[in-house]
Amino acid sequence: MAEETLFSKIVRREIPAEILYQDDLVTAFKDIQPKAPHHILLIPNHLIPTVNDVTHDDELALGRLFTVAAKLAKQLGIDEDGYRLIMNCNRHGGQEVYHVHMHLLGGRALGPMLA
Ligand code: IMP
Repeated sequence: MAEETLFSKIVRREIPAEILYQDDLVTAFKDIQPKAPHHILLIPNHLIPTVNDVTHDDELALGRLFTVAAKLAKQLGIDEDGYRLIMNCNRHGGQEVYHVHMHLLGGRALGPMLA
């Protein structure tokens, strides 16, 4: 059984976070150390440690991350200029929190991805 991270506590509202969206499958909240004017994390409510652990059972929740990301981008008014979605996996991917999450970054031109 994988160990919970602080993100599970955010889902259960046991620790504070600026939650922008939540439903039965996913939660979206502001990143505590924003790397862009808009930096939101979107997570499945249930724990999946890394993208390597994803199974067919996770497809509905992970698909929802995209629909919610698009909805939030529109709400924030960054959909037309554009934004970046990132998922990091394990050490070389730069993953720090072992609960799968999608970063939504926008509000400025982000430049080449692998700068
Ligand atoms: P990773 O490097 O892809 O794992 O990204 C983890 C992200 O979680 C980083 O951008 C952190 O700033 C963010 N983060 C860590 N703790 C918290 C928190 O308590 N609230 C919101 N974001 C957090």
